Amino acid sequence: MLLRIALSKKPSKLTAITAAVALAIAPMPPALAQQNKGPPIIRDTEAEQVLRDYTRPILRAAGLEKQNIQVVILNESGFNAFVADGRRIFVNHGALMQSETPNQIIGVLAHETGHLAGGHLAKLREQLAQAQTQMIIAMLLGAGAMVAGTRGGNSNSGLANVGAAAVAGPQEMIRRTLISYQRQQEENADRAGVKFLTASGQSAKGMYETFKRFTNDSLFAARGTDPYLQSHPMPAQRVAALEELARSSPYWDKKDDPALQLRHDMVRAKISAFMERQDTVYRRYPLSNDSLPARYARAIATYLHGDLRSALGQIDGLIQVQPNNPYFYELRGQALLEGGKAAEAIAPLRKAVQLSNNAPLIEMLLGQALVGTDNAAHTDEAIAILRAAVGRETEAPLGYTQLAMAYGRKKDFAQADLASAQAAFLRGDNKTARELASRAKTRFAIGTPGWVKADDIVAAKPLPGQNSN
Ligand SMILES: [Zn+2]
Repeated sequence: MLLRIALSKKPSKLTAITAAVALAIAPMPPALAQQNKGPPIIRDTEAEQVLRDYTRPILRAAGLEKQNIQVVILNESGFNAFVADGRRIFVNHGALMQSETPNQIIGVLAHETGHLAGGHLAKLREQLAQAQTQMIIAMLLGAGAMVAGTRGGNSNSGLANVGAAAVAGPQEMIRRTLISYQRQQEENADRAGVKFLTASGQSAKGMYETFKRFTNDSLFAARGTDPYLQSHPMPAQRVAALEELARSSPYWDKKDDPALQLRHDMVRAKISAFMERQDTVYRRYPLSNDSLPARYARAIATYLHGDLRSALGQIDGLIQVQPNNPYFYELRGQALLEGGKAAEAIAPLRKAVQLSNNAPLIEMLLGQALVGTDNAAHTDEAIAILRAAVGRETEAPLGYTQLAMAYGRKKDFAQADLASAQAAFLRGDNKTARELASRAKTRFAIGTPGWVKADDIVAAKPLPGQNSN
């Protein structure tokens, strides 16, 4: 299952500070990055599992394995990765698509972990706050000079312009200070990233390959936009320093494990199939390509674009090659479920749940199939599975949406309202969440666990950036 889920916070609230810390390798401005259609976050067990496997050794080497740091996949096709809050690494799906080897994206994750381990975000915030104070003082002084100049009589005189220069001067100075500060952080993150890779027995070649590619791109993109960048050939120096450091590692020539490369290519095939236009998918994965990833991409594209029968045949072919791959059964179940065959979706989804060690997002899909059969005998099982799933996966509204339907079937309207309120809350729709939770409160006995949960939602303050209406 590849879910495109609305973030409870608006992506635009990842603020200018985030943009400043974002990898300098993203050549596109944030405004452009937001033009993409669709919800900002992608949820998919297979992709998330691969990213967890990529980050685990690095986080361990960085001493951050206990921090529960998550990798979040953003629904953006450009290349970007950044840290925003000290507990999450954001990665565009475009960064996965454009990384040809696991080692390339692992290098980016190592660099981002370098920012986390160095506490760069907090330091940059401090620096920004300082800069803002300096700027305010400078502007006050500038304004004073301007008034003085105007008082001098002729507002067109040279003196009047001193004020304007006094305003522009410090701003430019502060901007340059911040850029040089950020550059230093980038170099520190590079060094830390290489250190983590070497400590976990991995090559930094992929990191170097990725950054080298973007040095060229960013110089191209920057031409004619930022004279300061043009006059400072810093990126080339940074990449040269990175190359020297990376080559000094005993693991420089170490190749990715072929099994990991296959998993990487399967995830890229899945992202392409779900996110890209059908003709693009077939151009990337033409019928002449008989590899497993190409067959995976075409099977997904076939189900998405309407031919369920043909898609099921293709998925069964995949299952023959890898009979223990949970995501093939998940895909079979999803295709059947979305094709209106909920009852038939149950068996493959049970298998997917079992093979994935009870991955909660897949359990939610199974719960949806059980609820979707309209068979009362399945309702209690659906509730048990969904409750377990929402307990372990607290950010996906789907589990609560399906729970609400299951409770509705049982005419347990208190629990149904509560689950609907929780789903609305996770979608960021606070108004609906409060209304439903208020109604749920009238249906529970005061002080019971359900009443307390409903009361929490009624009392909850909107997250920063969330609509309070
Ligand atoms: Zn960076």
